[in-house]
Amino acid sequence: MSFPQSRMRRLRRTESLRALMRETAVTPGDLIHPIFLCPGIAVRRPVASMPGVFNLSIDEAVREAEEAARLGLGGLLLFGLPESKDELGSGAYDDEGIVQLGLRALKASPASKKLVLIADVCLCEYTNHGHCGKVIETADGWIVDNDPSLDLLARTAVSQAKAGADVVAPSDMMDGRVAAIRRALDAAGYQQTPILSYASKFASAFYGPFREAADSAPQFGDRKTYQMDGANLREALREISLDLEEGADMILMKPAMPYLDVIRAARELTGVPIGAYQVSGEYSMLQAAFQKGWLDPNRAILESLVSIRRAGADFIVTYFAKEAAKLLG
Ligand SMILES: [Zn+2]
Repeated sequence: MSFPQSRMRRLRRTESLRALMRETAVTPGDLIHPIFLCPGIAVRRPVASMPGVFNLSIDEAVREAEEAARLGLGGLLLFGLPESKDELGSGAYDDEGIVQLGLRALKASPASKKLVLIADVCLCEYTNHGHCGKVIETADGWIVDNDPSLDLLARTAVSQAKAGADVVAPSDMMDGRVAAIRRALDAAGYQQTPILSYASKFASAFYGPFREAADSAPQFGDRKTYQMDGANLREALREISLDLEEGADMILMKPAMPYLDVIRAARELTGVPIGAYQVSGEYSMLQAAFQKGWLDPNRAILESLVSIRRAGADFIVTYFAKEAAKLLG
């Protein structure tokens, strides 16, 4: 049937018709709010390249969690800025590390009953060189040594589970990390702690502002020997398949908006829950346009999130989580 029998505009005539026809929804419960924990008390330090994002001391993070719970958000993703850094990133797997202390404080708050507490598993915030694993020198220069890094990542995940993490989320992109973490969690009695693996994480320019927020910029080289080439879709699907074989319960795709086709392909590949991370650069470029008055924040925030859900993500990690929940409320 074609025009004039068929008229697409009939179903767009009123807001109530449009609401009934709407295929994709975003709810506050789909959104995960990232938190950058830092030492101190009553610290709320703005991240210059990410307006509205702060480094928070643990007491401030607990307040933030209470607000997140009131807004009906799905959960928090925790990153840590340690007091000091070293060669092997020992702050990541220290039972008294910043994320572990934060997890215990958050767990003790009533807000945690309503939020999923997800701990980012990586070493780059804790190593003095800013890479995601153990670094060694070879004839070809400095490299991140895969297999010895697995043990450190697994220790990090166990320590976070012990401190109260509901979910651990390895973001390092070492080969074999999901299996190593699963084995270590099971051996330590955390068979029920799920792994959300950053299965397809691309080496992206859009992570720039995060490195200021998490103080995790590599001090030499880049992350292209472990994060993926942005041109590769088939490789992303192989990464996902391998992580699932190793025992990942869910996968996280990163970045989101420049890689919507990869999210769609992942959705078609697997039935496991898929999250997408609307990363710092995606957030900051929208914020820059809002500050200039070039885009309407209320509409652009929700449209960006709907596009990620429509591509196939079940949930979204986003710095707009609180703002979006208010708009949706
Ligand atoms: Zn890392």
